[in-house]
Amino acid sequence: MKDGLIKALACDKRVRIYLCATTALVDEARKRHDLWPTASAALGRTLSVGVMMGSMLKSDKEQLTIQINGNGPIGTIMVDAYSDGHVRGFVGEPHVHYQYNDTGKLAVGIAVGKDGYLEVIKDFGMKDNWSGKVALQSGEIGEDFAYYFTVSEQTPSAVSLGVLVNPDHQVQAAGGLLIQMMPDATEEDIVKTEALLKTLPPMSTLINEKESLREIVSSLYDDVEILEEMPVEFRCHCSKATIKRMITTLPKEERLAMIHEDHGCEVTCHFCNSTYQLSEAELRELEDFLERYEK
Ligand SMILES: [Zn+2]
Repeated sequence: MKDGLIKALACDKRVRIYLCATTALVDEARKRHDLWPTASAALGRTLSVGVMMGSMLKSDKEQLTIQINGNGPIGTIMVDAYSDGHVRGFVGEPHVHYQYNDTGKLAVGIAVGKDGYLEVIKDFGMKDNWSGKVALQSGEIGEDFAYYFTVSEQTPSAVSLGVLVNPDHQVQAAGGLLIQMMPDATEEDIVKTEALLKTLPPMSTLINEKESLREIVSSLYDDVEILEEMPVEFRCHCSKATIKRMITTLPKEERLAMIHEDHGCEVTCHFCNSTYQLSEAELRELEDFLERYEK
Protein backbone atom coordinates (compact mmCIF):
# COMPACT_ATOMS: atom_id res chain seq x y z
CA MET A 1 0.00 0.00 0.00
CA LYS A 2 1.18 3.48 -0.88
CA ASP A 3 1.99 5.85 2.01
CA GLY A 4 -0.62 8.51 2.73
CA LEU A 5 -3.06 9.97 5.20
CA ILE A 6 -6.86 10.10 5.28
CA LYS A 7 -9.08 12.27 7.47
CA ALA A 8 -12.69 11.21 7.85
CA LEU A 9 -15.82 11.60 9.96
CA ALA A 10 -18.29 8.97 11.18
CA CYS A 11 -21.30 8.57 13.50
CA ASP A 12 -23.02 11.59 11.98
CA LYS A 13 -19.79 13.68 12.31
CA ARG A 14 -19.47 13.03 16.04
CA VAL A 15 -16.37 10.87 15.56
CA ARG A 16 -13.22 12.01 13.79
CA ILE A 17 -10.82 9.52 12.17
CA TYR A 18 -7.21 9.89 11.10
CA LEU A 19 -5.61 6.95 9.30
CA CYS A 20 -2.12 6.80 7.83
CA ALA A 21 0.14 4.36 5.99
CA THR A 22 3.79 5.15 6.67
CA THR A 23 5.73 2.10 5.45
CA ALA A 24 8.12 3.91 3.08
CA LEU A 25 8.38 6.86 5.47
CA VAL A 26 9.46 4.68 8.40
CA ASP A 27 11.82 2.68 6.19
CA GLU A 28 13.44 5.96 5.11
CA ALA A 29 13.98 6.80 8.79
CA ARG A 30 15.43 3.32 9.35
CA LYS A 31 17.93 3.72 6.50
CA ARG A 32 18.97 7.24 7.50
CA HIS A 33 19.52 6.38 11.17
CA ASP A 34 20.53 2.70 10.83
CA LEU A 35 17.70 1.75 13.20
CA TRP A 36 17.56 -1.77 14.61
CA PRO A 37 14.07 -3.36 14.59
CA THR A 38 12.79 -2.24 18.00
CA ALA A 39 14.12 1.27 17.34
CA SER A 40 12.34 1.23 13.94
CA ALA A 41 9.12 0.31 15.74
CA ALA A 42 9.52 2.98 18.44
CA LEU A 43 10.44 5.82 16.08
CA GLY A 44 8.02 4.53 13.41
CA ARG A 45 5.06 4.59 15.81
CA THR A 46 5.98 8.13 16.90
CA LEU A 47 6.44 9.32 13.29
CA SER A 48 3.02 7.85 12.44
CA VAL A 49 1.32 9.78 15.27
CA GLY A 50 3.35 12.77 14.10
CA VAL A 51 1.87 12.77 10.58
CA MET A 52 -1.66 12.51 12.00
CA MET A 53 -1.10 15.32 14.52
CA GLY A 54 0.68 17.46 11.90
CA SER A 55 -2.43 17.20 9.70
CA MET A 56 -4.46 18.79 12.54
CA LEU A 57 -2.40 22.00 12.34
CA LYS A 58 -4.24 24.93 10.82
CA SER A 59 -1.52 26.40 8.57
CA ASP A 60 1.95 25.84 7.15
CA LYS A 61 3.29 28.44 9.63
CA GLU A 62 2.62 25.98 12.43
CA GLN A 63 4.59 22.92 13.49
CA LEU A 64 4.74 20.57 16.41
CA THR A 65 7.43 18.64 18.23
CA ILE A 66 6.93 15.36 20.07
CA GLN A 67 9.43 14.35 22.70
CA ILE A 68 9.33 11.04 24.56
CA ASN A 69 11.73 9.91 27.26
CA GLY A 70 10.97 6.94 29.48
CA ASN A 71 14.53 6.47 30.78
CA GLY A 72 14.88 3.29 28.74
CA PRO A 73 17.87 2.25 26.59
CA ILE A 74 16.59 4.06 23.48
CA GLY A 75 16.98 7.46 25.17
CA THR A 76 14.93 10.37 23.82
CA ILE A 77 12.61 10.02 20.82
CA MET A 78 12.11 13.31 19.01
CA VAL A 79 9.75 13.98 16.08
CA ASP A 80 8.93 17.23 14.28
CA ALA A 81 5.67 17.28 12.33
CA TYR A 82 4.30 19.78 9.81
CA SER A 83 0.86 20.55 8.38
CA ASP A 84 1.60 19.18 4.88
CA GLY A 85 2.22 15.60 6.01
CA HIS A 86 5.99 15.65 6.28
CA VAL A 87 7.85 14.65 9.42
CA ARG A 88 11.40 14.14 10.61
CA GLY A 89 12.76 12.49 13.73
CA PHE A 90 15.43 10.51 15.54
CA VAL A 91 16.10 8.42 18.63
CA GLY A 92 18.97 8.77 21.10
CA GLU A 93 20.23 5.19 20.56
CA PRO A 94 19.29 3.62 17.22
CA HIS A 95 20.96 0.29 17.98
CA VAL A 96 18.46 -1.22 20.42
CA HIS A 97 16.60 -4.44 19.90
CA TYR A 98 14.32 -6.20 22.40
CA GLN A 99 11.59 -8.77 21.85
CA TYR A 100 8.93 -10.10 24.21
CA ASN A 101 9.70 -13.76 24.83
CA ASP A 102 6.07 -14.93 24.91
CA THR A 103 4.80 -13.28 21.71
CA GLY A 104 8.02 -12.58 19.82
CA LYS A 105 6.77 -9.02 19.30
CA LEU A 106 9.14 -6.07 19.27
CA ALA A 107 9.37 -4.82 22.86
CA VAL A 108 8.95 -1.09 22.33
CA GLY A 109 7.90 -0.56 25.96
CA ILE A 110 11.19 -2.04 27.18
CA ALA A 111 13.29 0.03 24.75
CA VAL A 112 11.45 3.24 25.65
CA GLY A 113 10.89 2.57 29.37
CA LYS A 114 7.94 4.02 31.27
CA ASP A 115 9.65 6.08 33.91
CA GLY A 116 9.28 9.40 32.14
CA TYR A 117 7.10 11.62 30.02
CA LEU A 118 5.57 12.37 26.66
CA GLU A 119 5.58 16.03 25.69
CA VAL A 120 4.03 17.81 22.72
CA ILE A 121 5.04 21.37 21.88
CA LYS A 122 2.97 23.23 19.30
CA ASP A 123 4.54 26.23 17.63
CA PHE A 124 1.82 28.46 16.17
CA GLY A 125 4.22 30.72 14.27
CA MET A 126 3.67 34.29 15.43
CA LYS A 127 1.58 33.37 18.45
CA ASP A 128 2.74 31.77 21.68
CA ASN A 129 3.73 28.13 21.88
CA TRP A 130 1.48 25.59 23.54
CA SER A 131 2.76 22.52 25.31
CA GLY A 132 1.24 19.50 27.01
CA LYS A 133 3.09 16.90 29.04
CA VAL A 134 1.91 13.62 30.52
CA ALA A 135 3.56 10.74 32.37
CA LEU A 136 4.20 7.68 30.20
CA GLN A 137 1.71 4.85 30.77
CA SER A 138 3.49 1.88 29.20
CA GLY A 139 6.15 3.24 26.84
CA GLU A 140 4.38 1.36 24.02
CA ILE A 141 3.54 4.78 22.52
CA GLY A 142 -0.02 4.07 21.26
CA GLU A 143 -1.42 3.86 24.80
CA ASP A 144 0.68 6.81 25.85
CA PHE A 145 -0.81 9.00 23.10
CA ALA A 146 -4.36 7.85 23.90
CA TYR A 147 -3.71 9.03 27.45
CA TYR A 148 -2.12 12.28 26.22
CA PHE A 149 -5.11 13.19 23.98
CA THR A 150 -7.62 12.38 26.69
CA VAL A 151 -5.84 14.17 29.55
CA SER A 152 -3.88 16.96 27.90
CA GLU A 153 -6.14 17.86 24.97
CA GLN A 154 -9.41 16.80 26.66
CA THR A 155 -10.33 14.69 23.63
CA PRO A 156 -11.11 11.04 24.41
CA SER A 157 -9.14 9.13 21.79
CA ALA A 158 -8.16 5.65 20.73
CA VAL A 159 -4.77 5.19 19.10
CA SER A 160 -3.53 2.13 17.23
CA LEU A 161 0.01 2.15 15.85
CA GLY A 162 1.97 -0.59 14.17
CA VAL A 163 5.33 -1.24 12.56
CA LEU A 164 6.15 -4.64 11.09
CA VAL A 165 9.86 -5.26 10.50
CA ASN A 166 11.24 -8.04 8.27
CA PRO A 167 14.09 -10.34 9.37
CA ASP A 168 16.43 -8.31 7.12
CA HIS A 169 15.38 -5.20 9.15
CA GLN A 170 13.46 -3.61 6.28
CA VAL A 171 10.09 -2.13 7.26
CA GLN A 172 7.35 -4.33 5.76
CA ALA A 173 4.34 -2.29 6.90
CA ALA A 174 3.70 0.71 9.15
CA GLY A 175 0.76 2.92 9.93
CA GLY A 176 -1.52 4.47 12.48
CA LEU A 177 -5.16 5.03 13.35
CA LEU A 178 -6.48 7.75 15.62
CA ILE A 179 -10.18 7.88 16.51
CA GLN A 180 -11.38 10.93 18.44
CA MET A 181 -14.71 11.56 20.12
CA MET A 182 -16.06 15.03 19.41
CA PRO A 183 -17.71 16.85 22.35
CA ASP A 184 -21.18 15.85 21.10
CA ALA A 185 -20.35 12.11 20.83
CA THR A 186 -23.05 9.92 22.36
CA GLU A 187 -22.81 6.89 24.63
CA GLU A 188 -23.80 4.79 21.61
CA ASP A 189 -20.85 6.18 19.57
CA ILE A 190 -18.48 5.24 22.38
CA VAL A 191 -19.91 1.71 22.66
CA LYS A 192 -19.70 1.30 18.87
CA THR A 193 -16.08 2.47 18.86
CA GLU A 194 -15.08 0.20 21.74
CA ALA A 195 -16.60 -2.78 19.94
CA LEU A 196 -14.78 -1.84 16.76
CA LEU A 197 -11.43 -1.56 18.56
CA LYS A 198 -11.91 -4.98 20.19
CA THR A 199 -12.06 -6.72 16.83
CA LEU A 200 -9.68 -4.48 14.89
CA PRO A 201 -6.62 -6.39 13.61
CA PRO A 202 -3.19 -4.84 14.40
CA MET A 203 -2.46 -1.74 12.31
CA SER A 204 0.58 -3.31 10.61
CA THR A 205 -1.58 -6.30 9.53
CA LEU A 206 -4.21 -3.99 8.00
CA ILE A 207 -1.59 -1.94 6.15
CA ASN A 208 0.15 -5.10 4.98
CA GLU A 209 -2.97 -6.91 3.77
CA LYS A 210 -5.46 -4.29 2.55
CA GLU A 211 -5.39 -2.54 -0.82
CA SER A 212 -5.86 1.07 0.25
CA LEU A 213 -6.47 3.42 3.17
CA ARG A 214 -9.93 4.12 1.72
CA GLU A 215 -10.78 0.43 2.01
CA ILE A 216 -9.71 0.33 5.68
CA VAL A 217 -11.38 3.58 6.73
CA SER A 218 -14.67 2.71 5.00
CA SER A 219 -14.87 -0.60 6.86
CA LEU A 220 -14.66 1.02 10.32
CA TYR A 221 -18.19 2.52 10.60
CA ASP A 222 -21.34 2.42 8.41
CA ASP A 223 -21.38 6.15 7.62
CA VAL A 224 -17.77 7.12 6.96
CA GLU A 225 -17.35 10.46 5.19
CA ILE A 226 -13.84 11.04 3.80
CA LEU A 227 -12.76 14.67 4.22
CA GLU A 228 -9.25 14.77 2.87
CA GLU A 229 -6.36 12.66 1.58
CA MET A 230 -2.76 13.78 1.57
CA PRO A 231 0.70 12.36 0.90
CA VAL A 232 3.15 11.84 3.77
CA GLU A 233 6.93 11.61 3.80
CA PHE A 234 10.08 11.72 5.89
CA ARG A 235 11.78 14.96 4.96
CA CYS A 236 14.28 17.22 6.69
CA HIS A 237 14.83 20.81 5.64
CA CYS A 238 18.37 21.15 6.93
CA SER A 239 20.89 22.69 4.53
CA LYS A 240 24.34 24.18 4.57
CA ALA A 241 22.66 27.52 5.33
CA THR A 242 20.86 26.18 8.45
CA ILE A 243 24.12 24.57 9.61
CA LYS A 244 25.96 27.90 9.18
CA ARG A 245 23.24 29.65 11.16
CA MET A 246 23.68 27.08 13.93
CA ILE A 247 27.47 27.68 13.95
CA THR A 248 26.93 31.42 14.48
CA THR A 249 25.24 30.61 17.81
CA LEU A 250 28.39 28.88 19.14
CA PRO A 251 30.76 30.81 21.44
CA LYS A 252 33.41 32.77 19.53
CA GLU A 253 36.32 30.73 21.01
CA GLU A 254 34.75 27.56 19.64
CA ARG A 255 34.31 29.09 16.20
CA LEU A 256 37.91 30.30 16.12
CA ALA A 257 39.17 26.90 17.28
CA MET A 258 37.39 25.31 14.31
CA ILE A 259 39.30 27.67 12.02
CA HIS A 260 42.77 27.72 13.61
CA GLU A 261 43.00 24.25 15.15
CA ASP A 262 40.65 22.01 13.16
CA HIS A 263 40.86 23.90 9.82
CA GLY A 264 37.23 23.13 9.06
CA CYS A 265 34.35 21.26 10.62
CA GLU A 266 31.88 18.48 10.02
CA VAL A 267 28.34 18.79 11.37
CA THR A 268 25.69 16.07 11.37
CA CYS A 269 21.98 16.90 11.45
CA HIS A 270 20.37 14.91 14.30
CA PHE A 271 17.04 14.71 12.52
CA CYS A 272 18.14 13.14 9.23
CA ASN A 273 21.77 12.14 9.81
CA SER A 274 22.99 14.20 6.80
CA THR A 275 26.57 15.38 7.18
CA TYR A 276 27.84 18.80 6.17
CA GLN A 277 31.48 19.75 5.75
CA LEU A 278 32.57 23.36 6.10
CA SER A 279 36.06 24.25 4.92
CA GLU A 280 38.40 26.60 6.75
CA ALA A 281 37.70 29.19 4.01
CA GLU A 282 33.93 28.92 4.52
CA LEU A 283 34.33 29.28 8.29
CA ARG A 284 36.57 32.35 7.80
CA GLU A 285 33.98 33.86 5.48
CA LEU A 286 31.30 33.28 8.11
CA GLU A 287 33.51 34.87 10.77
CA ASP A 288 34.16 37.92 8.54
CA PHE A 289 30.42 38.26 8.02
CA LEU A 290 29.77 38.09 11.78
CA GLU A 291 32.45 40.70 12.48
CA ARG A 292 30.92 43.11 9.99
CA TYR A 293 27.45 42.39 11.38
CA GLU A 294 28.56 42.90 14.99
CA LYS A 295 30.03 46.37 14.25
ZN1 LIG B 1 18.46 17.25 8.52
